[in-house]
Amino acid sequence: MKIDVAVIGGGASGIMAAIFAARSGKNVCILEKNPRIGKKILATGNGRCNFTNINAKAQDYNSEFVGFSLECFSPKDVITFFEEIGLLSRTEAEGRVYPLSGQATAVLDVLRLELSRLSVKEIVDFDVQKIEKNNDGFVIFSKNEKVEAKKVIVATGGMASPKSGSSGKGYELLKAFGHHTTKLVPSLVQLKCEKSVGGVRAYGKVTTLSGKSDTGEIQFNNYGISGIPVFGLAKYVKKGESVFLDLLPDYTEDEVINILKARPKQTMETYLIGILNKALGQLLLKECGISPLSRMSDTLKADEIIKIAKKIKAWRFDVTGTMPWDNAQVTAGGIELSEINPETMESKLCKNLYITGEVLDIDGPCGGYNLQWAWASGKLAGSEAASDKN
Ligand SMILES: Cc1cc2nc3c(=O)[nH]c(=O)nc-3n(C[C@H](O)[C@H](O)[C@H](O)COP(=O)(O)OP(=O)(O)OC[C@H]3O[C@@H](n4cnc5c(N)ncnc54)[C@H](O)[C@@H]3O)c2cc1C
Repeated sequence: MKIDVAVIGGGASGIMAAIFAARSGKNVCILEKNPRIGKKILATGNGRCNFTNINAKAQDYNSEFVGFSLECFSPKDVITFFEEIGLLSRTEAEGRVYPLSGQATAVLDVLRLELSRLSVKEIVDFDVQKIEKNNDGFVIFSKNEKVEAKKVIVATGGMASPKSGSSGKGYELLKAFGHHTTKLVPSLVQLKCEKSVGGVRAYGKVTTLSGKSDTGEIQFNNYGISGIPVFGLAKYVKKGESVFLDLLPDYTEDEVINILKARPKQTMETYLIGILNKALGQLLLKECGISPLSRMSDTLKADEIIKIAKKIKAWRFDVTGTMPWDNAQVTAGGIELSEINPETMESKLCKNLYITGEVLDIDGPCGGYNLQWAWASGKLAGSEAASDKN
């Protein structure tokens, strides 16, 4: 029997697309290469699944292409959708929304129950190798099997976290229909730096050479730096560039100088304790050429105090690259947006072929924005693929 709508990829976007296509009365299947659908959902939000952000709007993403989808399925609509299928939620700091149970498994469970209520067939261990178009629709091939469908939704994700299933195969499948990809860069990922301070955290502002900045908790690791402000900026930083850390972003340089001048007399070993983490402070002093650390603070000259203050306000970290795709949460770049109709998610190059989620050239910041895009684009693709207007 020919399926009405075949969804390739059982991630957040594909599941949502399948639900909305099936709610319109269509015969729908999900083709998933893993033994189970939704593997990445379980890893999101550190196992808590930050499934949307109440503040998400089109301007938060790399392109306004998202505007129509977000209008049709806003963060509020996503919360209501989940409530209706049995999942209560809670909004935390900065508008981040999590399931009330604090469990990503609950998100996947309620989605799977809805798929089952709608009789959506989950065909797992089906690693799509090729999609062919013929007169009445599409034939979708794995190595050993094939499925025929009138319409196809590609929801194969990007390159980030390939262990969850998204290995970039979707780009290849779509290139066969004439689609192009923009440059693919790991996003929401840690930065490898020349210097390292293992296991330290500090509040600060990170600024890139191009002037983009973000403030929050910076984590210093044995490979470099991470934390939300670093994650969000990683896609803008090229190998060999530097980022600058302001470890007292709430003070001006003059105020920092005055704070340093007023430090009680002590050895330089403890001089920055109470301002910065001890290990971080000692490394910073070393880079300022302050040695030995047994030196007394009242021997500091005015120009040395200025040097320390300048480094606290703009400490240069030379970046040797990002951590690999395994560590990235999101792919920046993807299928060219000009090749997709933003009001239907249908390919402009192939009728009845729909493309949704992270496989497209859309990415958002940390905090529930990327799942919001996955749900919203999935809902639109599913509803449109199920509509009989074509
Ligand atoms: C560790 C981690 C934590 C994250 N936390 C958050 C968070 O808290 N909040 C947030 O908003 N975002 C978060 N994200 C990002 C978010 O999870 C993704 O942007 C979103 O899941 C993308 O959904 P998708 O359906 O487009 O792709 P995916 O979720 O990647 O799903 C694609 C699916 O397609 C399948 N597939 C791929 N190729 C084939 C093929 N050839 N044949 C058959 N099946 C195939 C894959 O196995 C996979 O199941 C996180 C990401 C990671 C990695």
